[in-house]
Amino acid sequence: MSKSDELKKIKDEVLNLKKSPLYNERVKNKMFPVIGEGNQDAVIMFIGEAPGRNEAKTGKPFCGAAGKVLDQLLEHINIPRKSVYITNIVKDRPPRNRDPLPDEIECYGPFLDRQIEIIKPRVIATLGRYAMNYIMKKFDLELEIEPIGKAHGKAYEAEASYGSINIIALYHPCVAVYNPNNIDNLKKDFEILKKYKM
Ligand code: URA
Repeated sequence: MSKSDELKKIKDEVLNLKKSPLYNERVKNKMFPVIGEGNQDAVIMFIGEAPGRNEAKTGKPFCGAAGKVLDQLLEHINIPRKSVYITNIVKDRPPRNRDPLPDEIECYGPFLDRQIEIIKPRVIATLGRYAMNYIMKKFDLELEIEPIGKAHGKAYEAEASYGSINIIALYHPCVAVYNPNNIDNLKKDFEILKKYKM
């Protein structure tokens, strides 16, 4: 199967994921799941938390206020958005943008795991503590997990099934939506990604 076919299969499965605690809410609100978008051969994969309202309306990741910040950060390091792959752990919007619950992360995690296996990024950039915790645990770095306030901007080496990878812990872009003064710290952290630019 091609990468496109494999990713399409994930999309179809999530569309019909009736066992998800967020499925009924999505259907009731005529919203979409957000699977991910970007380069299927990306070197860098960004992983956020869960779709917000704009994302669930359009089916596209990071297309609202946090997305504008992410675009600004990518521009700062001269990495075109279309060269990376962007997704989330949780593929449906939690009501009122609340934090994702453990059973939601458990339900959607396997889809993210498959996306990583398909795209095989050399760098996984986690946006916020939920993505960081999930990815650090997945790659056996649980003992190195620190609060995001300490971990942000750090790189960790890990072994994926397809070779060595780097995990980069980053703040979630929404921290600059709530407080625009944070943008400079985010820009500084993003600069670490320049090293992995192809
Ligand atoms: N926040 C996220 O974590 N993901 C999105 O796609 C949008 C906002």
